Amino acid sequence: MKVARFEVAGEISYGILDAAADGDGVEIVELTGDPMIAGYDTTGRRFRFADVRLLAPVIPRSKIVCVGKNYADHIEEMRSETGGDAPEEPLLFLKPNTSVIGPGDTIVRPTISERVEHEGELAMVIGAVAKDVSEEDALGYVFGFTCANDVTARDLQIKDGQWARGKGFDTFCPLGPVIETDPDLADARVITRVNGEVRQEGSTAQLIFSLSRIVAHASQAFTLLPGDVILTGTPAGVGRLEAGDTVEVEIEGIGILRNRVA
Ligand code: MG
Repeated sequence: MKVARFEVAGEISYGILDAAADGDGVEIVELTGDPMIAGYDTTGRRFRFADVRLLAPVIPRSKIVCVGKNYADHIEEMRSETGGDAPEEPLLFLKPNTSVIGPGDTIVRPTISERVEHEGELAMVIGAVAKDVSEEDALGYVFGFTCANDVTARDLQIKDGQWARGKGFDTFCPLGPVIETDPDLADARVITRVNGEVRQEGSTAQLIFSLSRIVAHASQAFTLLPGDVILTGTPAGVGRLEAGDTVEVEIEGIGILRNRVA
């Protein structure tokens, strides 16, 4: 099931994607509230997919937890800049919820950075309060999955040594287009394109630390709240974004997250 957050005629709602009643295209079935909190009651209204504006499918209530260095080929390409081998356990950092934008929104390169880069990633959306959960139970706390771009001011990340600023600017966490609650992630392709050209191509099968390990590990440190988001790391091929570019993160079974760069 695909869950969207959308705006139509100035109203913001959640909805579920469904085949159009007349068999032509896709519609959104409006929900009465946030399904992460309120379940799946519907209002009875349906909208043509083309008539709504999709928003970030979730604004994290408290935090975006990110995993660094979770694909071997990306660790290799970053060796000379952020150093080191694969971490012994998932390496965590945070992005503020003010960095979130939705599909179609614009990534704004800060004037103080000379080098803003894309990192296409699979994101997990938490659906229930999770603290000290086991790996075995971890995925039961995940509401669903979406595409993310862990946009990074690489020069500031390297200069600062810690990553809060380089990863945390406004607009540096595009999410969307929808949350898929039950994708097949055994070997799902994670592709990033800039102006239509493939820059990154990996698979969830290449994750060093599994999705369940990441949730369990993060929940040792932080209480995870419904609506919190976890980014799971990026494959090799990170590179620059310039003004006027269009960047897409596509994850098989979920969709394509597309943003312009200014
Ligand atoms: Mg990243």
